[in-house]
Amino acid sequence: MVALAESSSYQPWREDRSRYSFLNTNGRAKRILIHGATFVITVDAADKLRVLTRQSIYIVNGIIKEVFPMNKKSIPTNNIDLIYDASKRGGIVLTPGFINAHAHPPMYMLRSSMTLDKGDIIDQVKKMAELEAKMNEQDFFLGAVGDFTEEQKNGITTILSHYATFDPIERAAKLTKQNVINAVSAVSNSHPGNNLAMVEKILKNRKKYFSTPAIAIHYLHKASRAELKKIKMLIKKYNVLFTLHVAESEEWVGESVKKFGSRTIEAMADLGLASHNTVISHGIYLSDQEIKLIKKYKIGVVHLPTSNKLHKSGVFPYPKFVKLKMNNLVCLGTDSVISKNSLDLLSEALQVRIMHMDRHKVLYEDLFKMMTSQAAKILKLGKVGKIAPGYRADLAFWKLKDRGFLPYNEKKPISLIGNMITHGGRNIRDLMINGEFIISSRIHNLINESELLVELQKAHTKLRGRIEK
Ligand SMILES: [Zn+2]
Repeated sequence: MVALAESSSYQPWREDRSRYSFLNTNGRAKRILIHGATFVITVDAADKLRVLTRQSIYIVNGIIKEVFPMNKKSIPTNNIDLIYDASKRGGIVLTPGFINAHAHPPMYMLRSSMTLDKGDIIDQVKKMAELEAKMNEQDFFLGAVGDFTEEQKNGITTILSHYATFDPIERAAKLTKQNVINAVSAVSNSHPGNNLAMVEKILKNRKKYFSTPAIAIHYLHKASRAELKKIKMLIKKYNVLFTLHVAESEEWVGESVKKFGSRTIEAMADLGLASHNTVISHGIYLSDQEIKLIKKYKIGVVHLPTSNKLHKSGVFPYPKFVKLKMNNLVCLGTDSVISKNSLDLLSEALQVRIMHMDRHKVLYEDLFKMMTSQAAKILKLGKVGKIAPGYRADLAFWKLKDRGFLPYNEKKPISLIGNMITHGGRNIRDLMINGEFIISSRIHNLINESELLVELQKAHTKLRGRIEK
């Protein structure tokens, strides 16, 4: 279908674009030199934000080997397969690929069911669920490809997918070469047939997949005590992440109290589900006691301000996290196109600032970490989310000559980050995932976007047809 080609056949096509020079055309470029990036924005070993100037980066087999000032050193050309010139025409700003900690990729197929013009959000969501119930495996797959490629164009190189189907997401991750944590719902709203035996089977085979399996449930109160006990066992046995929506509304907190006799995080602690393997999304209605438990157990929290505003859910207590020095447990997510304008994190970072502006100023440095190194830590990604030796070569290439960056204060290049978050939200120029260029000169190397959009439109119309019958 929408797949373009294998890496070998898109190589000559990339060669036409002037920043790429191939020195070795036998097969895949495994040794890449990014020459002279005008700026490199990254978090350093001491977790401080840095803006480095005129840096070259040497990558071998998907891992960053060296980062060095472009004039201080050179790599022998016989050790290079491909040079990317990041210095010319105003140059390139390089950031780590961003990390999205909460998404529902197949729902990309449902974009038009979220119209903010007329009607009530509750009715909209109800209508959306009717459509979702009619989606088939191909719809889930196409939707996920649509989601992943849009996220890639926005500089996102890792996604935690929270959804009820595993295979379509696995296939979409493989096709787009996206890093995906594939958290499959053991207890699902849309797929009542899902169960823990199914999830365990996936976990047992976890090494065989392209994506990284994890466990999800929609909400705590939707699962039985027996199921939750089994989940606790599976998390331990397979050392995997566990994710769920928590306290998005007062009503859901009430459901937890009704079923378990305590609020969500308290119940999770009692059930042995509070740990650093757990990642909760939303977390709006949390008591002070629950916030302390999150700190104690180092539970990861995904903040989703745009979704919270659009669904009138409420305000995440970020200032309390700062006061208790536990904001290092917070990262960002997009949710689906039913809950956000576009699948990018820069606009989400801006929403964080706006949401909390009257009580707390969230620094650009903190926002940048939430999108990169901090998210990598929370999702246990290992050496990901920084531009430094030993780290995975997941890199986003942004053109400096862009209204999202210029003009900036040359004496304080850190002002580039403020510009990027406040005025950015644009598409990247190139994208590298695991040391491979997935997007070159704004064009996807693996997916024919034009065909993809036509296929999505056709499938969407068919889906609407199924509901009208
Ligand atoms: Zn969600």
